[in-house]
Amino acid sequence: MDAVLDDGGVPMTHRAVAIDRLVEAGLLTEPEATAYVLREIERTSADEAAASMGIPPAAVDQQLREATNKLEAAAATRSAIADLRSAAQPTECDECGGVLTRPYTETDGAVRCFTCAGAEFVMGGGGGAAGRTGWMEGD
Ligand SMILES: [Zn+2]
Repeated sequence: MDAVLDDGGVPMTHRAVAIDRLVEAGLLTEPEATAYVLREIERTSADEAAASMGIPPAAVDQQLREATNKLEAAAATRSAIADLRSAAQPTECDECGGVLTRPYTETDGAVRCFTCAGAEFVMGGGGGAAGRTGWMEGD
């Protein structure tokens, strides 16, 4: 496998690649990503991380705290969105009242099971009249 090169053409260490990747993802600053990789991924000691980053251990802790807070906020946001999406999913056919455990269609605001809709489930859509097609899993 080829080494990853930095902007100056120098091969990057695994650590540098890891930090780069976290920063590129767009959430963490470089100091936050560095503190996170050193302390949470590589499990280096606070003193070791401080020496590596050239800042006091308390500053490493601060960066790690910031990183952790951001990651928790991101995870909480994702989880909230997943809840909102699943709450927005229809559970019954508007026509027969059947539980939607199979593919359904939604046209003009009405949700119908495929039996009532007289439709066939086509993977990937195909430009039919249905406004929305989904797949419900039953309990
Ligand atoms: Zn139905």
